[in-house]
Amino acid sequence: MISNLRQLFLEHVGQTSDYPMMLEVERAEGVYLYGPNGKRWIDLISGVSVSAVGHGNPAVIEAICSQARDYLHLMVYGEAIEAPQVRYARRIASLLPDPLDSVYFVNSGSEAVEGALKLAKRYTGRTEMIYYKNAYHGSTHGSLSVMGGETFRNAFRPLLPDTRQIRFNEPDDLQYITSRTACVIIEPVQGEGGIIPVHRDYLQALRDRCNETGTLLIYDEIQTGLGRTGTLYFFQRYGIVPDILCTAKAFGGGMPLGAFIASKRVMDVLKTNPVLGHITTFGGHPVCCAAGLAALEYTLSEGLMEQAESKGALYEKLLADHPLVREIRRVGLLLAVEFRDAELTARIVWDAVEAGLMTEWFMFHETAMRIAPPLTITPSEIEESCAILRKVMDQVKR
Ligand code: PLP
Repeated sequence: MISNLRQLFLEHVGQTSDYPMMLEVERAEGVYLYGPNGKRWIDLISGVSVSAVGHGNPAVIEAICSQARDYLHLMVYGEAIEAPQVRYARRIASLLPDPLDSVYFVNSGSEAVEGALKLAKRYTGRTEMIYYKNAYHGSTHGSLSVMGGETFRNAFRPLLPDTRQIRFNEPDDLQYITSRTACVIIEPVQGEGGIIPVHRDYLQALRDRCNETGTLLIYDEIQTGLGRTGTLYFFQRYGIVPDILCTAKAFGGGMPLGAFIASKRVMDVLKTNPVLGHITTFGGHPVCCAAGLAALEYTLSEGLMEQAESKGALYEKLLADHPLVREIRRVGLLLAVEFRDAELTARIVWDAVEAGLMTEWFMFHETAMRIAPPLTITPSEIEESCAILRKVMDQVKR
């Protein structure tokens, strides 16, 4: 039955590469994933920044079950008053600075980006969209059009017209933002680029340039949101506020949920000319909103945001002196461990998976390994995972 499942997976589940990880997980709890025959992995990536409050978090499960008993889907987005949506929108808005008070719920990160790009075009009446080298914003046509990696998008041309790529943290390129630019979309910490945080001065200069030119500034905090970097969203540590914030991944507490968040004044343009400027059937599903809100409250009440910094620092301390580690880049509990080359990185990652760690590298940065465990991970679990990783690094064939 077990091998049969592997074979059926390859035969009938649409594949994204010729080398899937093929981890067979039967159950997940806390930071652990459990497979058949007593196999166990420590989850070092949280499904790429999703499972921030740990797998099987009882508060989230209870919220899901309770809402499922009340109702599932009722009506397309924006028509019925669904309490889980209203409660979550109000709560997240209360934790964000002005003027970010209007939340449009969608199903995923890519859709949040799609909505944000459309909103910027509609609000400004302009078409040009500026994005960054090594940016990742999703896989739909719109988000692919602002992806900063040619390998992944070339085969899907033509993409959206009137886009321009600029260099990250490079003030000279701000000159390309002009009065014909609808929006600039930036990850304040580039995720798939290998955990590269924006410089504070650069972000301020970008904000100023957008103000001067009437351009909307979009932050993609899909990977960094909900406490992983030490604040609810990374930008809050700088206090430099976007016009539109994109969120997803941990935002749904393990359920599919995303949102683009703006001021009510900006968001309201989607109501007219044309009416129904953005539509979704399932966006803001009540069960997903209930789960997301429960996860957010858990994050806040358990102080997970505050712990992200010390837990990340512990990883750094326990790994930095290994001879194979070239550099560690870190923001809160989001780390990139840099090795000599892509081949060595791949070998370490595969050996780590074999040894009981769930990890991977980055789309645009194949010489670093990702560490982004659930924020609930304990210091002793961090020590356990570092001991396994150090052993893997000691034994890897160089
Ligand atoms: N933006 C960033 C920064 C991401 O990391 C991702 C997913 O990895 C996305 C957007 C796309 O999100 P989704 O896969 O939910 O569409």
